[in-house]
Order: sequence, then C-alpha cells, then structure tokens
Amino acid sequence: MLFKLEIPTPINQPIQLPILKEKGIELWIKREDSIHPFVSGNKFRKLKYNITKAQEEKQHTLLTFGGAYSNHIAATAAAGKMAGFKTIGIIRGDELAKDIERTLAGNATLKHAVENGMQLRFVSRELYRNKTSEAFIKELQNEFGEFYLVPEGGTNDLAIQGCEEILTFEDEKFNYICCAVGTGGTISGLINSIKEHQKVIGFPALKGDFLTSEIQQFAKRNDHWSLQNAFHFGGYGKYTPELIRFINEFKVQTNIPLDPIYTGKMLFGIFKMIENDAFEKGSKILAIHTGGLQGIDGVNQKLKNKNQELIQV
Ligand SMILES: *Cc1c(COP(=O)(O)O)cnc(C)c1O
Repeated sequence: MLFKLEIPTPINQPIQLPILKEKGIELWIKREDSIHPFVSGNKFRKLKYNITKAQEEKQHTLLTFGGAYSNHIAATAAAGKMAGFKTIGIIRGDELAKDIERTLAGNATLKHAVENGMQLRFVSRELYRNKTSEAFIKELQNEFGEFYLVPEGGTNDLAIQGCEEILTFEDEKFNYICCAVGTGGTISGLINSIKEHQKVIGFPALKGDFLTSEIQQFAKRNDHWSLQNAFHFGGYGKYTPELIRFINEFKVQTNIPLDPIYTGKMLFGIFKMIENDAFEKGSKILAIHTGGLQGIDGVNQKLKNKNQELIQV
C-alpha cells in the first residue's frame, strides 16, 4: 500500500488591528504553520506527490540539497521518516563537517534532521554550486546507490501539484492571496488554483530577477499575479533590526509567530502596502503562513552573537 502524506486543512485566522479597521481591509492568515510543529507547511505539500512518485518507482532513498538552516532539509528528513524512506541531505559548507558534534549541537535544523534518520553529507560551496551537474549526480549515485532526487527547495511539477491544494472552497471569499516566495513553487500552485476574481501577490525573500521567469515555467497563467520586490531586506537570509522588531510586535499583537526568512518579510510588506493604500477599501486579503518557524533558532543564535534584539518565541 502506498503511504500518503496526510496534510490537515489549517484554519484561517482573522487579524484584528487598528490599521485594518481604519483602511477598511480584512486580513486573514492561513495557518499552514500548524501542519507540523517543526516543518514548513508548504514543504510538506511539495513533498507529498514526490513521495508518492518515489514509491511508485520503488525507490527506498530520497536525496536532496540544502543550506545548513534549510526548511526543506528539515521537511525531507521528517516526511521521509514518516513514509519509511532513507534520506540523504547534501548540505552546503564543508567547514561544518570539521567538528560534526559541535555543528549539530549548534544547529537545530541539522540536529533534527539527523534525529529523523537523515544522513548528512557536507560539500564545499564550490561543489554545491554544481549540484545539478550530471557528473556530480553520478558521483552521488556511486556513493549512495539509487535514489529519488528532490531538487533544492523541493520545487518541481509534482511540488506545484501539492501546492495547488493549499486553497480550498472557503477561500473563494478573498480577493487577494499573499505568499512568501523562495523558488516560486508555492506561488505557482496558488496561481494555478485561484478563481477569476482573485489575484496572487508574491513577496520574494531574496533578490531574484529570475523569479518571474521561474514562476512562468510552472504557473498555468500569466495574469492575476505579481511580485513585490521591495521587501527582501537585502537578500536571502538577510534581516534588519526593523524586521525583527516588526516580528516581535506582530507576535505580541496577534499571538502569531513569524519567521525572519519568509513569512516575516511577507507580512511586513503587506502592512506597508496597506499603509500606502495599495489595497482598495473593502479588500479581503488571505496571507499564507507557510511556516519556517524552525529557522528562528538559528537566526536567534546569530542575533545573540551580535548582541541584537532576539525573536521572541
Ligand atoms: C520554502 C519556503 C517558502 C518559499 O517557497 P517556494 O515554493 O520555494 O517559493 C516560503 N515560506 C517558507 C516558510 C518556506 O520554508
């Protein structure tokens, strides 16, 4: 029997803040972060049909790539374990292998991955850059045997199919759907599942001029979506004291935790747009909380080293 990754339907939570009332805007948050305490909701969705495919191919091993704090690595380890796969994570940065005990002690992402049975293989940044080359994949096959390859970030056609299940019938009452963008897989699934009266707005978490063409590859339509490129805070994994302060304030006001890599940037952007009257009065906005909370720990360690305000959890 094939294992199916069971994904519950998260609730939409209404946000009540003075600015929303003042501007006549409804903002709701889809709590995809509630799908798993540690794993990003969208990463589970992206793995769902890939895992089915790997089982159909009678594979026993999932192999994928990621950075040392990668939500996707955490997700692949957790989902792979649930589905009975051996998992291998190719991790960027061979300096991390020098003292593996120390690396794991200081990195909750990798520690959890190992606890979920993932075998880690650290490679130099140079090798990592060529991770999609045929020669490198061959080398990995020689070392690890046959495996089902999940791309970095988990984005492929089957991942998009999984993300097309985020929006449900109840969500048709919204006219804007907002989400954070990394590789563009999640937003592509959303774009493919919206209705004619809806628009998707993506908030890239990185500087990426390539993202539009990437999304065009996976999305079935070229209209009804746009990217807001002003809220990446300097690039992937970058953040400012202003962003951290926003995340902490939002937590106090709503009791909803945000991560500094993706969802914090998205909500910061949404509120900036609301302040600037970018949404017409009466707009109903649904923001997808994709999760990413497992990454807070790593960021807090860096903030602590710099003696800066930490993210309150
Ligand atoms: C990976 C991730 C994203 C981005 O998803 P893509 O499909 O790569 O665009 C957004 N939010 C969180 C929390 C993530 O982990």
